[in-house]
Amino acid sequence: MAAQRQRETMNTPSKLQGGKVWLVGAGPGDPELLTLKAARLISQADAIVYDHLVGNGIMDLARGDARIVYAGKESSKHTMPQEDINQLLVELAREGLSVVRLKGGDPFIFGRGGEELETLAASGIPFEVVPGVTAAAGCGAYSGFPLTHREHAQAVTFVTGHLKDDTVNLDWPALARPCHTVVFYMGIGAAREICRQMIDHGLPSTTPAAVVRNGTQADQRTLLATLGTLPQRIEESGIKPPALIIVGSVVSLHEKLSWFEKQ
Ligand code: SAH
Repeated sequence: MAAQRQRETMNTPSKLQGGKVWLVGAGPGDPELLTLKAARLISQADAIVYDHLVGNGIMDLARGDARIVYAGKESSKHTMPQEDINQLLVELAREGLSVVRLKGGDPFIFGRGGEELETLAASGIPFEVVPGVTAAAGCGAYSGFPLTHREHAQAVTFVTGHLKDDTVNLDWPALARPCHTVVFYMGIGAAREICRQMIDHGLPSTTPAAVVRNGTQADQRTLLATLGTLPQRIEESGIKPPALIIVGSVVSLHEKLSWFEKQ
């Protein structure tokens, strides 16, 4: 009933057009952070191809008879090669199915969503894109780090800590700036190098730095440290991906503003 009312207000069809792909962001984990549009598409799709970062409970929204494909992908343990995923999306759409390609967070932020769409575009398959709450926004909110704050940071940068050839060759002078929050995705394996470079490029070793693992989920974990102490804290804690490294003085607000982990 509620779903029908929602469709009427939003003027959206109850059945999806086949032969098309929707690239959809699933948000950082908490299923309530899905957009209404994402929830509707997941519940209507004929086929869903999803990644390991899609939060628990989200796939329960799928139709009982939907074709579900797990495309996997944990760092360096690729379940399905990217090429095969791209091809699978084309094939499912060519079968006339409505296909949701579901990715953690936002599909255009370190999600390879662009690459998948390029294959669809080259094959003449129509598509739409539905943004999602990216991990940085989710972890900032649920850990009590506003990513910008007038007294702490006037800019925020999202950067990958994992590059194709396993090196971390980033523009360090641009990242190690004052009044700036830097969020490293996929950076846990390179944490020591990241912290060393940020210090070598001018940030004090006392700069607050944190790791948030499984942000917005029931088992969210936040590790608070400084650039000087973070690598050792990570080693001691044994914290594993998926996690973000957040660097900047906004991290110091956690003490006052954290709410989720206290619940
Ligand atoms: N498209 C996704 C990012 C994909 S890259 C997004 O917009 O969020 C995968 C990386 O995202 C992980 O290695 C981790 O660094 C980060 N990540 C994704 N979900 C996370 C979560 N719930 N908590 C912490 N980090 C997360």
